[in-house]
Amino acid sequence: METLSTVRQWRAVAQSARDAGRRVGLVATMGALHDGHASLVRRARENGDVVLLSAFVNPRQFSDPADLSRYPRTPERDEEFARASGVDFFVSPTLEEMWPDFPAATLTTVSVHELGDVLEGVGRPGHFDGVASVVAKLFAVTGPCRAYFGEKDFQQLVVVRRMVRDLAFDVEVVGCPIHRDADGVALSSRNARLSPAGRERARALYGALRAARDAGAPASERRALMTRLLGDADLEVAYAEVVDVDTLRAVRDDAHGPARALVAAFVEGVRLIDNVAIELETRS
Ligand code: AMP
Repeated sequence: METLSTVRQWRAVAQSARDAGRRVGLVATMGALHDGHASLVRRARENGDVVLLSAFVNPRQFSDPADLSRYPRTPERDEEFARASGVDFFVSPTLEEMWPDFPAATLTTVSVHELGDVLEGVGRPGHFDGVASVVAKLFAVTGPCRAYFGEKDFQQLVVVRRMVRDLAFDVEVVGCPIHRDADGVALSSRNARLSPAGRERARALYGALRAARDAGAPASERRALMTRLLGDADLEVAYAEVVDVDTLRAVRDDAHGPARALVAAFVEGVRLIDNVAIELETRS
């Protein structure tokens, strides 16, 4: 594995891989690597890609400076973890390399308007502008053939897919399933901030989602059920939604077919998100 920190080196290695006839697979992360990230790397390796993993805590996607300063950072461990996971190029760019103007605004922002304004976008204004802008830049520098994103951040996956479609990026976006611990909790870098008791309470997110998935009820009842179950576990709910998988708009009670249930809730001040696929039955 080679470790790189400048845009120049990073662009050059990706170019050489393409010149050698290889496909470059990008796994974009904010570091604090865990097995969820490793599952994306595995998927890229299964496809035979040269795997480039970027680890960059992107300040432009944090609306709350305290959240940014508390975000876990484990750079040395990440390098070892990436090596052990089978990454070919570990890119850990400095802030100056990625956003030379920061903290002043860059003049160019990519915004996937309506998809970025709902769900996570409500409590985190500007979050998806930051995400779309950094992903566009990662694509511009890397020129990947495929980019791997986890369904864990379902809204992000939908936003990135839409950006790729609207701006005609020549990248296949590969959505990868959520990697969970044995107790059902979705792996997340933020879990490191939970106490053992908080971690126990975090199980309620997946519990509520499973209950909603299996409820066989109209969407509004499934939303109410999730809100109640999260409240019963003493979690502060940011949202508990059932949405259309493409538009991310709340589905109506007469909707049927595939949908997505998503929750965001605070445990010990840590904002956690999770989601599951659900199938809404035709109701007679
Ligand atoms: P992050 O470092 O949290 O920004 O995540 C980087 C990428 O890893 C994103 O595409 C996430 O959706 C994905 N990811 C994070 N956690 C998981 C997980 N538990 N299972 C699958 N993918 C994940």
